[in-house]
Amino acid sequence: MTQYSTLAIHAGPGPDEATGALLTPIHQSTTFKQDGIGQDREFTYSRTGNPTVSALEERLGALENALPATAYATGMAATTTLFLSVLRAGDRVVVSDVVYGGTVRVLQQVLHSFGVEAEFVDTADLNQLADALRKPTRLLFLETPANPTLKLTDIEGAAKLAKAAGALVAVDNTFLTSALQQPLDLGADLVVYSTTKYIEGHNSTVGGALLTRDEELNERIRFVKGTAGTTQAPWESWLTLRGLKTLPLRLEKHSQNALHVAEYLEKHAQVAQVYYPYLPSFPQYELAQRQQSSGGGIVSFELNGGLEAGKQFLSGLKLFTLAENLGAVESLVTHPATMTHASVPVEQRRAAGIRDGLIRLSVGLEGEEDLIADLDWALKCVLGGVLS
Ligand SMILES: *Cc1c(COP(=O)(O)O)cnc(C)c1O
Repeated sequence: MTQYSTLAIHAGPGPDEATGALLTPIHQSTTFKQDGIGQDREFTYSRTGNPTVSALEERLGALENALPATAYATGMAATTTLFLSVLRAGDRVVVSDVVYGGTVRVLQQVLHSFGVEAEFVDTADLNQLADALRKPTRLLFLETPANPTLKLTDIEGAAKLAKAAGALVAVDNTFLTSALQQPLDLGADLVVYSTTKYIEGHNSTVGGALLTRDEELNERIRFVKGTAGTTQAPWESWLTLRGLKTLPLRLEKHSQNALHVAEYLEKHAQVAQVYYPYLPSFPQYELAQRQQSSGGGIVSFELNGGLEAGKQFLSGLKLFTLAENLGAVESLVTHPATMTHASVPVEQRRAAGIRDGLIRLSVGLEGEEDLIADLDWALKCVLGGVLS
């Protein structure tokens, strides 16, 4: 079997047949000349298919031993297309309680009015999940690790429960990607990505993808994508194809830097708690070791001193940029309570472990010592010794 890092570079179409160009050309064309009536070629119109987008779809599929993926304009376009493809009025979805904010909004503020009911449960607790699956459920939607506390769900255990209840299982695998976690091998029916994050990896595009091994499901999804027009564009697909080539290599280094950052933070007196799945102190450390092949690039931690400490810390950082994204070469920092999760009601936020002193780092590919020096300086600012 061909290795993952080889597939990340070579899976899909090889050099261009017409010109020999090594890389897939950017087919920036709306439409395609047809040979005659009733003799449609593979590609007819770029909403339903485009050769550059298709090259990306083939490579993404090959990485998970799945059918060619479907690629989308954004991660949320992928999630929305998934919901539109498998849900009908009256259907119920069980969702991880700590999940990407956009997923909550599309369920509660868009699909709710079409008769879709969503129940948010702590899927990290399989007993709670089993209870929630007692009512008829069409879809179980998991996110693991979950943003921002990195709480894990046991995909294999959850998928067994969902199968027994007759529900489909989808996993948002954006945080780890198939380089570090393969949900389809653990029993999931569908995998969702925001390719915006690690897959493209350079803060250059927004994009999404859906994968499955089920022909019928795939056909339905491809139809809904082509009909609703949630599809990805050729230029973004080309950039994403380029990003994919270094995905395994980048994630290895992201994980290495993140582990060192997590170990550093855990020892600091100003830090109350660190969340990183590959730290032995992480409550689900064993599950992390079993389910994912390394810790990934995200580290969250709780500062002593709440919101005020958070502000001081953020103002002291130079290398970590305050911005809403993750998964790219540049290190970024967010303050979930006032940024990514600001629209989540305070009670719900607290229940999910998102307190005012919580900071989320997307650890990039800069030099590890520089990253730690940056954090060290910012933590000194919190102590008040520098700014005041
Ligand atoms: C960013 C993100 C999304 C949404 O992706 P967009 O490309 O921003 O639409 C979905 N799930 C997770 C886990 C994300 O981090």
